[in-house]
This record gives sequence, structure tokens and C-alpha cells, in this order.
Amino acid sequence: MSTHKCPISSCTWQVPDDRLMCLKHWEMVPTFKRRQVTVERDAVRKAGTAQTRQAAQLRYVKAQRAAIDSISHLAVLP
Ligand SMILES: [Zn+2]
Repeated sequence: MSTHKCPISSCTWQVPDDRLMCLKHWEMVPTFKRRQVTVERDAVRKAGTAQTRQAAQLRYVKAQRAAIDSISHLAVLP
């Protein structure tokens, strides 16, 4: 499985692509935002048609963005 860098700019962890960010930062994200990321990721997986998949993908990206934004001010430390 391929990996990507944790999206928190001060972090250098490599994360598997099925995870949004490293465990340390993931645990800093408020629970309801984590749940939203998981719910939307599952919606993308379960989408039956290309159209519902595309809509779910957009919500998934938004949920990811919200999760990252919710902690980026906490996480950007030298
Ligand atoms: Zn991280």
C-alpha cells in the first residue's frame, strides 16, 4: 500500500493512504469530525453509481479538509 505525508505541515510521518493523518494528529481531531470523515469514506466505497460516487467524494474531501483545519492551528509548532 502506498503512503502519503501527514497533512499537518509540521509533521513528517508517512501515513498509509487509507488513513487521513498520523495517529497522533488524528486523535487531536474532535470526535464528530473524525466520525464525519469515516462516514463519508464509507459512502464513497458504497456508492452505487458514478454520480453518487462523485457527490460522496466531494463530501469526503470536505470532511477531510474540516478535520485538518480543526487541528492545524494546534499542530503547526516548530
Ligand atoms: Zn501528523
